[in-house]
Amino acid sequence: MAVRTIALVCALSALLAGSAIAAERTGALAKPGGAADSLPIATDVRLGGDDKQTRFVVDLSQKIDLAAFTLADPYRVVIDLPQVAFKLSPKAGEQGRGLVKAFRYGLIMQGGSRIVLDTKGPVRIDKAFALAAADGQPARLVLDLVPTDRASFLRSIAQENRAPRAAPVKQSEAAPKPSDPRPLVVLDPGHGGIDNGTKAASGEMEKDLVLQFARTLREKLDRAGKYRVAMTRSDDTFIPLSERVRFARAQGAALFVSIHADAIPRSEGQAEGATVYTLSEHASDAEAARLAEAENRADAIAGVDLTAEPDDVANILVDLAQRETKSYSVQFARTLVGELKSKARLHKHPLKAAGFKVLTAPDVPSVLVELGYMSTKDDLKLLTSATWQGKTATAVAQAVDTFLTPRLAGGRSN
Ligand SMILES: [Zn+2]
Repeated sequence: MAVRTIALVCALSALLAGSAIAAERTGALAKPGGAADSLPIATDVRLGGDDKQTRFVVDLSQKIDLAAFTLADPYRVVIDLPQVAFKLSPKAGEQGRGLVKAFRYGLIMQGGSRIVLDTKGPVRIDKAFALAAADGQPARLVLDLVPTDRASFLRSIAQENRAPRAAPVKQSEAAPKPSDPRPLVVLDPGHGGIDNGTKAASGEMEKDLVLQFARTLREKLDRAGKYRVAMTRSDDTFIPLSERVRFARAQGAALFVSIHADAIPRSEGQAEGATVYTLSEHASDAEAARLAEAENRADAIAGVDLTAEPDDVANILVDLAQRETKSYSVQFARTLVGELKSKARLHKHPLKAAGFKVLTAPDVPSVLVELGYMSTKDDLKLLTSATWQGKTATAVAQAVDTFLTPRLAGGRSN
């Protein structure tokens, strides 16, 4: 059955589809959900079928509309929904079946939820529909996927009417007053919404932990009063990597600090302590390369099209080399490691570089801090302790002050 293709013009779909290869698009989005207690609830989810046809079903407390489309490189199917409360088993999505390798779900922005299926290859959305509750069955959302070849897949993309350009992502913090001459520090808690980041065996999620830490750090900087502070996100919403960079640049940030927490597979043994990263085409070591690759996957995880984004760190570095930004970034990274030395647990090689997309603003000194390892028991204990968070945030605030104070005298922040 051919899928009905329609243009979606609401803000949500414009945002989600603006930079996306929208190969197939079905249905229309309902208006964003209201208060949390009135949100539709997803109560169960299951996969059926095989490699010839795979069916994906979500049980819901009420009928909702959906918009589904495919993305390449990596192959994904994205289902956009009005905001839904997901009350699913914690393991939901880890196991694939048929054409689907795995899937994840969550908030993509206020009022909008998203499900992203990773598929084994190029697929076509054969059917996508919503059913009202009937005959003792709950309301459902049903998606049938069939395999296709890459050439057909790309052809269907070419025929697709591209949706309007993405609307600017709503930033969680108000723009600073232009009359305020204080330098701006942008704090960037990693991940959010549908992208959980890494996860501890005991269930704690990186996205929650780094947001908590960023809030603590913002409080400390605000209290000192010498700097303006903005956050790329201050709630559990997904923000694409490029938006984070754009935000810092558009606001004229004097410093950008991306905050993360790492995890390593058990097979690679144990690691502990904080690491501060700057941007480089060549990773310091294999671990730095692995980490940058993992952090750069955030957009793919959330169903953002990657083919529209320039992906070439090398080109950005050529540009960077002509500016002082890179040396400022390294200078701040060194200052930060110095401050963290006494107050936090440091990794045995605490200063590293790799090709992190989120550090590519050519005019804003940028570092990425991995606070510690969610996969290491002792680190996780510290990471989740308010005392440790407070001490570590004080150290970061001190490093910010040491770095920016000479610039205060000069009037211009960078
Ligand atoms: Zn991360």
